Amino acid sequence: MRTKKRTTQPSVLIPEADIERRIGELAAEIDRDYAESDRLIAIGILKGSVFFMTDLLKQLKVPVSVDFFQTSSYRDSTEAGEIRIRKDVDLSIRDADVLLIEDIVDTGYTLRTILSLLHFRGAKSVKLCALLDKAARREVEVTIDYRGFQIDDIFVVGYGLDYAELYRNLPYIGVFHAVED
Ligand code: 5GP
Repeated sequence: MRTKKRTTQPSVLIPEADIERRIGELAAEIDRDYAESDRLIAIGILKGSVFFMTDLLKQLKVPVSVDFFQTSSYRDSTEAGEIRIRKDVDLSIRDADVLLIEDIVDTGYTLRTILSLLHFRGAKSVKLCALLDKAARREVEVTIDYRGFQIDDIFVVGYGLDYAELYRNLPYIGVFHAVED
């Protein structure tokens, strides 16, 4: 008998209400930490961080500018963790306090690349805010200054995260369950 795997609508791993509550807590912390900043730039990494970023920034009271990076991994690269910058930021980040916003930290290669680029360009400070932390998968060390949730080594979708460019608009973080039939 042939066994085929298919997926169903993702089930809820982190409900919308929990995300909303956690974002409120993170925003309060960020507001406190940047109360004295004279130039704060929030930089999101496209496309996954967009939903998280907009909800987070709407809660902030400190003045903040908004910009974006877009990255991808080299598919045919033999070098693990080689990251391509597909879209650069528009703003100068020299002497700015940068808050980098990411959907999920997995191996850490994307963040390592972006963080060193920001330091190289003369940012005054760089901190990282990530909604999800898949710590068990980490290959390079990355400090997450503001972390939403730690999750196990499972593939998640929703709230910005995609599978084949779908599911980003789910209001929750979900997981697929393979079904045998
Ligand atoms: P890293 O460079 O840390 O390995 O990769 C981070 C990127 O991998 C994330 O921004 C995201 O695009 C992708 N990624 C890692 N884990 C997941 C996951 O569980 N689900 C989805 N949809 N993307 C993931």
